[in-house]
Amino acid sequence: MNISEDHWQLREKIIELCLWMNSSGLNQGTSGNISARYENTMLITPSGVPYEQLKPQDIVSMSLDHNRYEWDGAYVPSSEWHFHRAILQSNPDFGAVVHTHSTYATVLSMARIKIPACHYMIAAFGGNTIRCSKYATFGTPKLSKNILKAMKKRSGCLMANHGMVVAGKNLDKAMWGAVELETISKQYYLASQLDKMVVLSDDEIERVIAKFANYGPRDKCDSPDDTNSQGNNAQGLNPKTNHAAGSNSTNGTGNPSPSNQDRQKYEYKNATPNIKLPNS
Ligand SMILES: [Zn+2]
Repeated sequence: MNISEDHWQLREKIIELCLWMNSSGLNQGTSGNISARYENTMLITPSGVPYEQLKPQDIVSMSLDHNRYEWDGAYVPSSEWHFHRAILQSNPDFGAVVHTHSTYATVLSMARIKIPACHYMIAAFGGNTIRCSKYATFGTPKLSKNILKAMKKRSGCLMANHGMVVAGKNLDKAMWGAVELETISKQYYLASQLDKMVVLSDDEIERVIAKFANYGPRDKCDSPDDTNSQGNNAQGLNPKTNHAAGSNSTNGTGNPSPSNQDRQKYEYKNATPNIKLPNS
């Protein structure tokens, strides 16, 4: 199976962000998962493979054209492929999905509460609240259905007694959103300890949404090489991570087997995502 360079790089990018997600503390172990749209397919992390061991050919490909449980790859897709695929199918503007069990978002999800407009950045998710989806067992179509409902006109939500999920135009923007949702979750949790909290009006959130449409935070991830005031502190990735299978890349399973030349073209220029976790 020959794949194009951009397809290969998307697989590399998924692994890069998986590693960053854990090294930054946003996620632990293999509890999170990441997917990205490539043409009419979804590329998604496999189930149960430690991120450090992931190679681009291990990323699983599933069709977005139908809902059959079929995939291309040596490993089975993440057990949460249902909601990853449903989210990508629900909105053609979504190009990637990030799911994590990040601490503060998960804490709020245990209380099954929605986050109000306690900070103007909530508008980056499309409205004046971040909803919490109803509980369903992980890996089930029911969970997927609940999440789609909670994400109506939103790009992210909390997942009851589970974690959070965020979608974005591309992988960088989805990861940026995941970090932002964890930040707002932490801020809301801490502010809830105070006697008083002021929630922004619907009119104000509408104004912020209008401003974001022109020059808002979503554009920050368009140029991941740019360094913002926070970016230097983000945990970088190991550029020497052995993502490629070297001369053994042809394994007879139909997995992609790009040339060494293709692999060398990708040099982790964007190894440090332009995002930062809330300080603990
Ligand atoms: Zn999960």
